[in-house]
Amino acid sequence: MEDRLFSFPQTPLLGYTEKNRQNQKLVSKKTKIVATIGPASESKETLRQMIDAGMNVARLNFSHGEHAWHATIIARIRELSEELGVPIAILADLQGPRIRTEMAAEQKLSAGDTVHFSDIAKRDDTAAKGLVYLDLPGSIENVKEGDSILIEDGTLEFQVTGKEGSVAEAVAKNAGVLKPRKGVILPDTHLELDILSEKDRSDLAFVLEEGVDYVGLSFVGSAVDVKTVQTAMREQLGTDTPLPKIVSKIERKLALENLDGIIRVSDAIMVARGDLGIEMPESEIAVLQKRIIQASLRAAKPVIVATQMMKSMTENPRPTRAEVSDVSNAVIDHTDAVMLSEESAMGKYPVETIRMMAEIIEKTETSPFDDVTTTLPLDLSGDYAVLIRSLYELAKSFRAKATIILSMSGFTARLLSHFRPEAPLLVATDSRATYQELALVWGAEPYLFEGKRDYDHFATHLIAQAKKEGKLNPGDQVAVFSGRTPDEETMRLVGIREVR
Ligand code: PEP
Repeated sequence: MEDRLFSFPQTPLLGYTEKNRQNQKLVSKKTKIVATIGPASESKETLRQMIDAGMNVARLNFSHGEHAWHATIIARIRELSEELGVPIAILADLQGPRIRTEMAAEQKLSAGDTVHFSDIAKRDDTAAKGLVYLDLPGSIENVKEGDSILIEDGTLEFQVTGKEGSVAEAVAKNAGVLKPRKGVILPDTHLELDILSEKDRSDLAFVLEEGVDYVGLSFVGSAVDVKTVQTAMREQLGTDTPLPKIVSKIERKLALENLDGIIRVSDAIMVARGDLGIEMPESEIAVLQKRIIQASLRAAKPVIVATQMMKSMTENPRPTRAEVSDVSNAVIDHTDAVMLSEESAMGKYPVETIRMMAEIIEKTETSPFDDVTTTLPLDLSGDYAVLIRSLYELAKSFRAKATIILSMSGFTARLLSHFRPEAPLLVATDSRATYQELALVWGAEPYLFEGKRDYDHFATHLIAQAKKEGKLNPGDQVAVFSGRTPDEETMRLVGIREVR
C-alpha cells in the first residue's frame, strides 16, 4: 500500500481491500517460507510446485533419512533453482544432543506410579529390569530432587522424588505409556550437553561436503556451542572456504538466558517452538517468540518462526483460523521467515500448505498492520549502519519503486532488510553462496551476475532484468547503493536514479 509509507491510514480496510484485490498480481511476499522436505515432498515435480507456490528455503531434518536420500534432495533442489531461476537456500538441521529413553520393555503408567531412571553408562546385566535409562551419559548425575523429567514432547511428566547413587526415583504426574527411544527434556537440570553428538559430527561432515547454505543447530545452550561448531567446520573446510551460515535454534531455557550472546555469534536464529514449548510453559510461547524476534532484529540477524504453524494441514486441505492467525501474527512480529515441518514433510497437502501460507503472508503484508511505524531497534553502530539507514530513509522519502544494491557477502542486504523497507529490495551479487543465503532474508530479491565488480555493470543489468520481469518501468525512480567491495573505496554510493 502506497499511502502507508508516511502515515497509518485513518480509515482502514474498506478502500484498501478493493485496491489489494486489483493489485493481487503485483504483490510479491517479503516474508520467506522454509519448508521441511520429507516423503510427501521428495519428488522433483512436487518440489517444483513448492517453489512455484512460494518456498524459499528447503529444510532437511537430519533426525530422519539416510545421507543418500539427503544428497538426492540437495541435487534436486539445486537443479530446480537453476532451471527456474529462483534462489533457494538449503538448511541442514542437525538433530543435536537429543536425550532418549532406553528400556527393556514399554511400561503402562498411571498417575502417581513410581519409575526409576538411570544413566545408560550404568546399564549392565545385573541391573533391575524395570529401570529406564537416559542415553546421555552424566544426565542422571545432574538431576536433583524436585526436577521435572518430560518425555515424548512432554506428554509424560515425572517429578524426581529422590536419588540414590546413579538412580533417580520419580513419580508420574499423568497416565501414559513409557516407550523406548522417546525424546527426553530435563528443563530444570543443568546439563553440559556436547553440542555435536557422534551422529551430528558425521552429518556435519556430510553437509559440508554437499555445500549446504545453512546448518541448523539443535539445543544450543550458549555462544560457546556455536563457536565449537564453527571450529569443527573450519577444521574440515580449512581457512579459505567460506563456512555455511549457522542457524541457532532457541529451544532451551538456558538458550533464553544466553540469548544475546548466542545471537551475536550466530548467523540466523530459529524460534523452535516445539521443544521450547516443552522446556518453557506453553502459555509463554507467543511472548517468547516476540522477545526472540526483537533480539534478532536488534542484531540484524534473520529469524525463523517454526513449528505447528499450519499443523492441521498435515491432514486437512484448509488451515484452522488459529493457524491463519499464527502465521499472520508472525509476519506482524517482523519475522524473516515462517517454517513448515510435518505439514510439508509428510502431510497430504505440501503444495497447498505453502500456497496458503504465501497467501496469508501477502494478505498480511498488504495490510497496514505489519507496517513499521517506529524505527526498529538496531544494536549495530558505526558509519555503515548509518549509511544504510539513510538509504532506507531516502527510498521511503522518494517513494522509490525499488532499492537496488550490490552486496557480495550479503551483509548490506541483511542490514537494509532489517528496516523492513516497503519498496522491493533488489540485490545484485556475484557470489552464488550469497545469492542462495539471501533466500532466507526478509524482502531480499537476489540476482546472480557475472562480470567485473563494477557498480554500473551490476546496476544496469539488474535494472534491465527487473524491467523484463515487470518490476520496473521507464520513468521509475529507484534508490541505489553499492556496498563495499574489497578493491574499490569509492563504491559507497547512495542516490536516486531514474529508470530509462
Ligand atoms: C522445534 O523444536 O520446534 C524444532 C523446529 O526442532 P525439531 O523439528 O528438530 O524438533
